[in-house]
Amino acid sequence: MTPTRAVLLLRISYRKAEEEAADAADETTIERVHRISKGIGRQEEDGRALAKRLGWTIVKVIPEDDTSAFKRRKIKLPDGTTALRTVRPGFRAALDMLASGECDGLIADDLDRVARDPRDLEDLIDVVESRRPRIPVESVTGSLRLANDADITMARIMCAVANKSSRDTSRRVSRKHEELAAEGKVGGGGFRPYGYERDGMTVCEPEAEVIRWMAARVLEGWSQNEICDDLNARGVKPAKAETWNPRSVSSILRGPRITGLRRFRGEVIGDASWPAIIDRETWHDVQARLNERGGGSRNDFVRWLTGALICSRCDRPLCGWQGNRGPRYWCATPRGGCGKITINAAHAEAELERQVLDFLGKRNVLARLRSLASTETSAAARAELAEDEKQLRELAGMWARREMGLQEYTEARRIIATRVKESEALVKSQAPRVLRALLAGDVREGWAELKPAGRREVLLAILPGYRVMPMEEGVARRFDPARLVPLDPAT
Ligand SMILES: [Zn+2]
Repeated sequence: MTPTRAVLLLRISYRKAEEEAADAADETTIERVHRISKGIGRQEEDGRALAKRLGWTIVKVIPEDDTSAFKRRKIKLPDGTTALRTVRPGFRAALDMLASGECDGLIADDLDRVARDPRDLEDLIDVVESRRPRIPVESVTGSLRLANDADITMARIMCAVANKSSRDTSRRVSRKHEELAAEGKVGGGGFRPYGYERDGMTVCEPEAEVIRWMAARVLEGWSQNEICDDLNARGVKPAKAETWNPRSVSSILRGPRITGLRRFRGEVIGDASWPAIIDRETWHDVQARLNERGGGSRNDFVRWLTGALICSRCDRPLCGWQGNRGPRYWCATPRGGCGKITINAAHAEAELERQVLDFLGKRNVLARLRSLASTETSAAARAELAEDEKQLRELAGMWARREMGLQEYTEARRIIATRVKESEALVKSQAPRVLRALLAGDVREGWAELKPAGRREVLLAILPGYRVMPMEEGVARRFDPARLVPLDPAT
């Protein structure tokens, strides 16, 4: 069926205009407006020409402003919840016309202009498929066709790819930005990064102090929530908001900026030109720790023997459990355990705390651990990490000098980045940061200040773990330390 009441959707892309303007930075505003309106005029001409060729009749032209194409705004959904959505009144109006039958076909410049957000595309597909036969959709570039299932699949893929690239870039980056990035320079635009002055180059010392403090707490096992609570209680303010939330803490700590690394299109590409606030090693440790915990939930375990106690009947790890007679470790049936072995948490913790402190109290042990904490293995892993990071920088340089294309660069980067991740894991497993920090000072004092997660890390690093034996029959319910049998480290 040939549409007799088609709608033509035009999209004014300021982003594209910005990109072109990167080379013509001295262009005046009037020239720019002129160029953009010329752009939309061309789009309309092309659309009308296509309609003519297809024999369609256009009855409605909807121009849509693209300034907020990827900026999502918080909107209220019909069910009362809020969500981040791209707001596009022009596109919605076109959909309504198609759905109501007011219009019976859609023409656009290309897929890119119609739907960059996969949600928009899905809405369009729904409308197209709501009629039999499907509502015809055509585009000047031929990129948007929804005539059959294969077309729809292809459109979904194209849209997902486009969506990814626009997110990675956050805004389309000109060649100029790429060069700045490759040289490790400040990208410009955006907000002032926490920890640095507006120029992005000068460290703001009071804020840098807060960042170092946050990193140290993460390494000690504090949750992001605890960090926020502490900062908020002390009246320390973030860059833009009034109070801290777990997300703002994690976005600062996860950002490579604070360790003097330049990120571009979501990837670290090498050394930045600004000074680091946190040294590379600490930053990697913080990343490992944040990844371990996965977010700032309050569900951090508080029972630090979790993972260190094994059921003597079924070999499963005991879990911290809130029982009727207070907290205990239990071979929990809800988690597939036998349910037969349980031990009082407070008593078991007190006993193992005593053992840890005894162990660390021996002079020779302490001396050996101190040297082990900087073992050759971890030194080797660190050396490898440094080598890989150097390679990444060289790659970025080659790319900046046009000695390789973006695709080759991305591929090469991917391979090395995988290795970097492995080295990081090795560095982390060989020398638990918390243990090293503990050994550096007064062990007893340090231990008293450790959070459960930190205690657990120390325990797992120095002691082999324990098998929990059943309670002896007929014996009064008194805690018996002999039920905790050290595992043979060889097994
Ligand atoms: Zn069991």
